[in-house]
Amino acid sequence: MNDFEGLRALVTGGASGIGRATAELLAERGAAVAVLDLDPSSVGEPLLAHRADVADDASVRAAVAAAVAGLGGLDVLVNNAGIGARGTVEDNPDDEWHRVFDVNVVGMVRTARACLPHLRASRHAAVVNTCSIAATAGLPQRALYSATKGAVHALTLAMAADHVREGIRVNCVNPGTVDTPWVGRLLDAAADPAAERAALQARQPLGRLVTAAEVAGAIAYLASPLSGATTGTALAVDGGMQGLRLRPE
Ligand code: NAD
Repeated sequence: MNDFEGLRALVTGGASGIGRATAELLAERGAAVAVLDLDPSSVGEPLLAHRADVADDASVRAAVAAAVAGLGGLDVLVNNAGIGARGTVEDNPDDEWHRVFDVNVVGMVRTARACLPHLRASRHAAVVNTCSIAATAGLPQRALYSATKGAVHALTLAMAADHVREGIRVNCVNPGTVDTPWVGRLLDAAADPAAERAALQARQPLGRLVTAAEVAGAIAYLASPLSGATTGTALAVDGGMQGLRLRPE
């Protein structure tokens, strides 16, 4: 079933992890897909690769213009590029707060701003933002990161309201702990990466991490005409982390 036949999609942060899995899934399902990334060197056909920094407005506008020209229009924006930050409010100085907000929040705003004129011309326009359970979960040692994802959640709702009458749907996914190169880097930094991975898996209700392909599946659903009546929602893809209360064994 090719849900995306004839549709054109742009995926930010599409060279790695969740973005890469999403770009590949949309292309498998029939979409023409462009990837926008800081380092798109690993991205090859059938994906179109564009280098851009979502923290730099001029670079976003140039890459979106090139991507839309290559795709022949735009129906789907997957606003996914993001970076992590650890610590409490006492740990990160102001410039770090500005830097991470600039990528995780304003980066999505910049990309959306550049894409909206093209999305208005589409008959199946959808935006999917990659948020996180950190937006609503109260995770320790994640003050800055969680604040950016709370902003992404609010941005999703506000954009959904602003553009619903233009036929543009806006939703977000809230992944839990996903087995991507990002999480791999965090584990590699631990004293005993294998033990740290085992402990992380044991904390998941599913007993394993979420896969990038599983998040891509949720993004694809929210991006596809199959979810045509869904806008302003957050879809959890967290292996039950937030919704389930398991009894301790
Ligand atoms: P990843 O590090 O594997 O991939 C992120 C991609 O974004 C990379 O290709 C990177 O080059 C690109 N990128 C980073 N900064 C950029 C910038 N300024 N401009 C353009 N591209 C940039 O990470 P991932 O785990 O796939 O995370 C993707 C998204 O998912 C992020 O928004 C992250 O907050 C979110 N998320 C991840 C997890 C997880 O457990 N991995 C959980 C919840 C949410």
